[in-house]
Amino acid sequence: MPNIAVFIEQRDGKFKKVAWQMLSEAKRITAASGGEVWALCLGADASGEAARYGADKVFNAGGESFATYNSELWSTATAQFCSTHKPEVLLVGSTAMGKDLGPKVAAKLDCACISDAVGLTWADGWTVRRPIYAGKCSIEVEPLTDMAVVGIRPNAFVLEENAAAAAAEAFSPDLSGVDPKAQVQSIEAVGAGDVELTEAEIVVSGGRGIKGPESYELIEKLAAALGAAAGASRAIVDAGWVDYSHQVGQTGKTVGPNLYIACGISGAIQHLAGMSSSKCIVAINKDANAPIFKAADYGIVGDLFQIVPPLTEEVIKLRG
Ligand SMILES: Cc1cc2nc3c(=O)[nH]c(=O)nc-3n(C[C@H](O)[C@H](O)[C@H](O)COP(=O)(O)OP(=O)(O)OC[C@H]3O[C@@H](n4cnc5c(N)ncnc54)[C@H](O)[C@@H]3O)c2cc1C
Repeated sequence: MPNIAVFIEQRDGKFKKVAWQMLSEAKRITAASGGEVWALCLGADASGEAARYGADKVFNAGGESFATYNSELWSTATAQFCSTHKPEVLLVGSTAMGKDLGPKVAAKLDCACISDAVGLTWADGWTVRRPIYAGKCSIEVEPLTDMAVVGIRPNAFVLEENAAAAAAEAFSPDLSGVDPKAQVQSIEAVGAGDVELTEAEIVVSGGRGIKGPESYELIEKLAAALGAAAGASRAIVDAGWVDYSHQVGQTGKTVGPNLYIACGISGAIQHLAGMSSSKCIVAINKDANAPIFKAADYGIVGDLFQIVPPLTEEVIKLRG
């Protein structure tokens, strides 16, 4: 009967979608195996949302120490939580924050730490699946310690509402012995526009078919009209046409929007690895045999320069 703790990541009170995806998966596991799902949130009250995605208990810790992310304070608090409550596993998002926090917590607890996981199963012990060699293979790892910290890739798990009567429990970590060696002064957001790629409900991506950096504007305009994030294939990131923060795929970001529009992207396996869990995929490509059409729900065979601008105009008209 595994008890699963999920670290609910937030910045400025805005929660990361990966937290709800991890809760959804944790609920699926405990529904089959027994045990409870615990949500741990530092610096904000996640009670409402955490209950919506299946948390049985919610532990919120507030106060000045959690106003902005600090490795030493946050990892100490999280490790204290795990030492006290002893979950069988702690899930953290494989985000910038989670990749910093997870290994520090594992080091403090002297337990296994498995990063970048895309699958998790319980059968009297954990089996964690994670891709290796840039996604060419995947391996299954079994932690050998009683507890493990597992980093979960954003959008690896399907979001599912699963209302539970979550009980809020007090959690007041003792941070008196912690003397932080560094403090975040400010955070400067760079990247994929107003909507963050991994959080976006709609993503419009461009590939080498856009021909040059100046045409990425077509992608950005359609994305702006749809309230979407703008993504890119690695080909145009490597070519220096757009910043790496836009890259979708094996070595970029994994996205899981309701709608993914791929413009001038061939559909290489490494690109598909980052977007194939999208609910609806639309591909625009002038080559009817492009592999992207095998992954697409809707395909438009044609020149994106003829298709994207009128499509953008229609979207603007429709959305007023
Ligand atoms: C280890 C490794 C990791 C990788 N990681 C990633 C990754 O994270 N993300 C990623 O994307 N790739 C990744 N790649 C690269 C990947 O293999 C492909 O090379 C890349 O995805 C191709 O990008 P593309 O589809 O934009 O370009 P291309 O494969 O060149 O495809 C361009 C497409 O545009 C179409 N086209 C051309 N002109 C038009 C037009 N006017 N209108 C409509 N369509 C048009 C063409 O028919 C073609 O299908 C990785 C590769 C390796 C080896």
